[in-house]
Amino acid sequence: MPEYSALSHLRCSRCGRESPAAGVREKCQCGGILFAQYDLTAVAASWSKEMLASREPNLWKYHELLPVRNESNVVSLCEQMTPLLTLPTLSGRLDVPNLLVKDESRLPSGTFKARGSSVGISKAKELGVPGVAIPTNGNAGAAWALYAARAGMPITVVLPTSGPETPRKECVAAGARVYTIDGTIGDAGRLVHDAAQKYNWYDVSTFNEPYRLEGKKTMGFEIAEQLGWSVPDVIVYPTGGGAGVVGIYKAFDELEQLGFIGSKRPRMAIIQTEGCAPLARAFVQGQRACKPWVDPATIAFGMRVPSPSADYLLLDIVYRTDGICTTVTESAIADMRLQVLRDEGFNICPEGAAAFAGVQKLREQGVIDRDEQVLLVNTGSGLKYMDQVADTSTELDLRTGL
Ligand SMILES: *Cc1c(COP(=O)(O)O)cnc(C)c1O
Ligand SMILES: [Zn+2]
Repeated sequence: MPEYSALSHLRCSRCGRESPAAGVREKCQCGGILFAQYDLTAVAASWSKEMLASREPNLWKYHELLPVRNESNVVSLCEQMTPLLTLPTLSGRLDVPNLLVKDESRLPSGTFKARGSSVGISKAKELGVPGVAIPTNGNAGAAWALYAARAGMPITVVLPTSGPETPRKECVAAGARVYTIDGTIGDAGRLVHDAAQKYNWYDVSTFNEPYRLEGKKTMGFEIAEQLGWSVPDVIVYPTGGGAGVVGIYKAFDELEQLGFIGSKRPRMAIIQTEGCAPLARAFVQGQRACKPWVDPATIAFGMRVPSPSADYLLLDIVYRTDGICTTVTESAIADMRLQVLRDEGFNICPEGAAAFAGVQKLREQGVIDRDEQVLLVNTGSGLKYMDQVADTSTELDLRTGL
């Protein structure tokens, strides 16, 4: 029997330097992001499609390719395998008949951030850190606060004051130490970095520690398994820091090495908003790195990341898969959210709405063909953003009768 985790070592995604997967680890000396590596030969010998199908459908079913070595350290609120939905009315409207939505809104905390925080907190617990600290636009902090509470681990969260109320309240209610800052998530990140060194907390900023990404990776495992061990033609993802995108393609690479899928990769469509589009700007200019976006502003606050540290990985995925990075307008996001609600009864988050608006734009431009299988990720629940749509002025007046 292989061990619970086949984690073998870490490898820098920039310079290739390898290092042991022991102790608290952050970025490579070169500044590159570390990728967890596994003994894939051992996993190939023990995994079969039938065996995986018989496991409980939650992200821990892929535990050999997750970094937690001892099952007793797993901190889980049951991260169920999320469904792939079809949209009969909307797919007709968009003229994309083969449109599937991976609906991440059903996870604990209501967003896909639960994946990274379940795995990240579990690994932090295994490493015995005295606490964790995280800069966030909101949803990551809310998810990490829940799992930290479950683990009994102290957590410090720093958010921009301009951020949304709901996730702030979620953090406070779950017992996190919450600070707000006049600035962006980048400014929050610098503050967390310094405080983490001073107090010996694990700085679990996106891509700073290698294990949060491993949780996001399970989206890619699920997509391939749910499609009968194949991949779609196009993946459309509303992108901020891009951990979801990097995770999904890391999953596909591991599955190919295991012989579970072939070498085909979906064309990656990274969707950003006009209010914060550092990756789309770099793509249009043919660059392999981003310049910081000045004054980011969007209602899709999960996408408000002015300087994504994984820029070199994200742009590489887009170029390598013949993909695209494009923007949608803020009004297209708001309109699309209502359209999806009214066509399908599906209360998506504004980030998900940005992805739908992206599909519409790319189909109109002919970048997406009518016969392609397109998988869009709805990253969270619209319930966290009801203030953006709850215009109650259209309620009817009872005095005039029902
Ligand atoms: C964080 C977040 C995003 C952006 O995801 P990344 O993988 O970090 O780019 C999108 N949507 C929601 C709801 C989020 O919370
Ligand atoms: Zn390096």
